[in-house]
Amino acid sequence: NKTQLFEATQSRSQQLEALNEISSQLSTEIADVDRLLDRIMRSAVDILKCEAGSLLLEDEESGDMIFRVALGPNADDLVGRRLPREEPSLANEALTRAESVIVNDAASDKRWFGEVIESDDEDEDEDETEAVPSTTFKSRALLTTPLLAQGQPIGVLQIINKKNGSPFTNEDATLLTTFAAQAAVAIQNARLYALQDERLIQRVAELEGLAAIDQSLNQTLELQQVAQVTLNWAIRQSKAKAGIIALIHQESDDENMLLISSSGYPEESMFSATVIGETVPAKVGIWGRVIRTATPSFTRNLKEDPDYIETFPGAVAQITVPIISASEVLGILMIESDNEADLTLLDMEFLTRLADHASPAIANSKLFGELSHQQKARADFVRFIAHELKTPMTSMKGYTDLLMRGVVGPLNEQQSNFLETIFNSVNRLEALVNDLRDIEAQDANQLKLDMGAIDFPPIVRECLRPLEQAFERKEQNVVLDFPEDLPQVWGDHQRLIQVMTNFITNGNKYTPVNGTVTIKAEEAVNIWDTEGVRRVLHVQIQDNGIGMSEDDLKRIFKEKYFRSDTARDTDEPGTGLGMVLTRGLILQHGGQVWVESEPGVGSTFHFTIPLADEILREAM
Ligand code: ADP
Repeated sequence: NKTQLFEATQSRSQQLEALNEISSQLSTEIADVDRLLDRIMRSAVDILKCEAGSLLLEDEESGDMIFRVALGPNADDLVGRRLPREEPSLANEALTRAESVIVNDAASDKRWFGEVIESDDEDEDEDETEAVPSTTFKSRALLTTPLLAQGQPIGVLQIINKKNGSPFTNEDATLLTTFAAQAAVAIQNARLYALQDERLIQRVAELEGLAAIDQSLNQTLELQQVAQVTLNWAIRQSKAKAGIIALIHQESDDENMLLISSSGYPEESMFSATVIGETVPAKVGIWGRVIRTATPSFTRNLKEDPDYIETFPGAVAQITVPIISASEVLGILMIESDNEADLTLLDMEFLTRLADHASPAIANSKLFGELSHQQKARADFVRFIAHELKTPMTSMKGYTDLLMRGVVGPLNEQQSNFLETIFNSVNRLEALVNDLRDIEAQDANQLKLDMGAIDFPPIVRECLRPLEQAFERKEQNVVLDFPEDLPQVWGDHQRLIQVMTNFITNGNKYTPVNGTVTIKAEEAVNIWDTEGVRRVLHVQIQDNGIGMSEDDLKRIFKEKYFRSDTARDTDEPGTGLGMVLTRGLILQHGGQVWVESEPGVGSTFHFTIPLADEILREAM
């Protein structure tokens, strides 16, 4: 008897040791719930030396118990099966009582309700639906212990048939309970972890979305587009069926808002896409309340909200968030669905963040809209002036030319000089008017290019011809340094002449007498713009003239009417429009432009233009 007792104690302490060890290991399985559950079950069966066992977890929604792990003969079929909440079972009993249930005579126990593995003929009529086909295995004894996490039942551990055939004792129950407590904590942690993980994944997806939105928003200042991008994201991230963005109508009219963007509404709806750009009432509906209170609203029982006005047929859920900038409600973002489950609180959080995110862009583009209105008026004016000046300038040039050529009589030297001055002045006036007109068009995004595959060398020659005199006058050299067989570029012939003329004229103007202007061009791999085409023509216009200071370099391409002090000192005529326009033209061609310069030493202007091959290949 003593040896028996010793052996019992011995095995008990071994069990406890094993249990301790396994418990400490459970916490490492946090990232994979299924593996954790499997491990728990195996350990329980091992430690208590049983033949089989199963682990069931409660399904949070239905309350049913679901087999998550089953060990033993034919156990695989059990995984995933449900024990309904209402039906009697040992699992349900252990859960309800929150304590272990021992059954050592399974065959005669009424509560034993098909939890596991029975194969005897005598059982077949007793329970058909739950019966699992098996060979010779028979559950004789079962120990069922609830898994309690912070006092809450989350499932059960059930072990079956001790290998030595002995019945389950209270001591076994205590041991399994201790183990179950540890296991439950590990399960709960792993579940929380998985949940966190899900949240994290969702948040990352959302952030990616926001980054994409930022990108699209930064690319456009068109209010409609900004709103459309925002709305698309709102609808895509939630599962809404329809949505709008509307902004409070300015011009002292707070009764109405302007429908900027709409998606998913049928034609008969007041928010149908056909009324985009028109006003809709701002003071009614749930959106009216959101505007008034500057607070988001999430309603799942629309019909019960007294403010609700139907805009989407059969809608049951709606989220409306205010778009706020500088603590002023600019408008609303609203999404809705006819399926309650489509919209959740998480969606509302997301929408609020989205609205926060988009509101500066919307505010900006609103301002921009007003600004571009002014800009358009100015561009119209410049266009009008340019047009009005064109006829008189043409006739001035024509008559001056006739006079200068002596067609209407001989001229003395002074008369010739005067006429030349008039002629040059008219030319400058013409260039100025053209630059003004172009730059306004460029600002208004109305400068259209007539693109095609063109040869570069003829462009240079075409530029130089009218400048020959200017170079001769200053006794400057022009050096051409490029092969004749350069690959064709993709560009607008006239505009590229304009670009080259601007650079070469500046070289001539801002280089003293006897200086040199060198024009280089080469085919090159596009190392200057990794997002651009692969191969470009790299052009350089180099002079050994007055150069520019660091500060000048920062301003030259960006500031309209900028002229450096040294440039003004040269007495060369200029407006400070050429470089801004030139840069715009080059960028519009898909090229890059930059300049290196040192005061008193000289300047080298660089620019690139995509090769025609590259563009044509991309288009195919
Ligand atoms: P501008 O009509 O004054 O020549 P641009 O827009 O062509 O206007 O050039 C702007 C200014 O950039 C010039 O006024 C001058 O200060 C500077 N700049 C342009 N090209 C050169 C150059 N080759 N050398 C030195 N300064 C230059």
